[in-house]
Amino acid sequence: MAQWLNATVSETIYWTSNLFSIKAKTGRLPFIAGQFVRLAVEGPEGRIQRAYSLVNPPDSEHQEFLISTVADGLLSPLLQQLTPGDTLGISQPATGFFILDEVPDGDNLWLIATGTGIGPYLSMLATAEPYRRFAHIILVHSVSRAADLAYKDLIEGFVAQHPGQLHYQPVVTREPHPGALQDRIPNLIASHQLQQQCGQLLNPKSQVMLCGNPQMITDTKALLDSMGLKKNLRRTPGNITVEQYW
Ligand code: NAP
Repeated sequence: MAQWLNATVSETIYWTSNLFSIKAKTGRLPFIAGQFVRLAVEGPEGRIQRAYSLVNPPDSEHQEFLISTVADGLLSPLLQQLTPGDTLGISQPATGFFILDEVPDGDNLWLIATGTGIGPYLSMLATAEPYRRFAHIILVHSVSRAADLAYKDLIEGFVAQHPGQLHYQPVVTREPHPGALQDRIPNLIASHQLQQQCGQLLNPKSQVMLCGNPQMITDTKALLDSMGLKKNLRRTPGNITVEQYW
């Protein structure tokens, strides 16, 4: 049974006019990196709630969420208006199976995200587990505009702490950007551009996590399947572990 905690918003970060982060404080909440909670606020017609992944590492004193404002959404426009000192409902316990415990070992780990799907990976990459288990980790973040590359500095900090082990590959689909590839993820994989740019193989010895846009997940899964990578199930371990965001 979910319990609701009243958290106090401590900070808001506006990456763009429709992409923002909220930090809130309730004290330390137990969870596994990659899991989500529900956020709730009181709207004009009652309480509105929706699931969001925790961006912060599990040992943090605050909880952090990366949110895109859905123009006709019920909750995200209200969340965007929150300011420090406001109250935010956070459900407990955190849940979800998009966690490294569910991912078998492999030669390398591809963490592939679109948009706000980068969130759970930031929590995982702040823990020791991916670096302990995988010789090479490749974080791929696809966004439409370069301004949407949230948490770039944090990610570059992780890369500096794990040189040669963690590779960060931004993808900016709608404009050229230095260091970024400029095509949708399935096209980049099919053309081997992504693998070449990252200097890593993507084959049945790889593990792949996919998070974000549901169509990106469907298309990428089908392509990977044709390359011999199978969905990871508890009874039949495979290569692909997914989290759809809407
Ligand atoms: P998005 O449209 O998912 O785009 C992010 C990146 O994913 C872009 O690089 C985009 O490429 C790429 N992409 C989109 N479809 C793809 C596909 N089929 N295969 C491969 N790559 C694909 O961006 P977003 O800002 O996260 O979400 C946009 C809209 O989704 C929101 O405005 C809202 O209507 C809806 N939505 C989002 C959420 C959320 O949590 N993020 C929740 C509910 C609804 P292109 O630039 O080529 O499109």
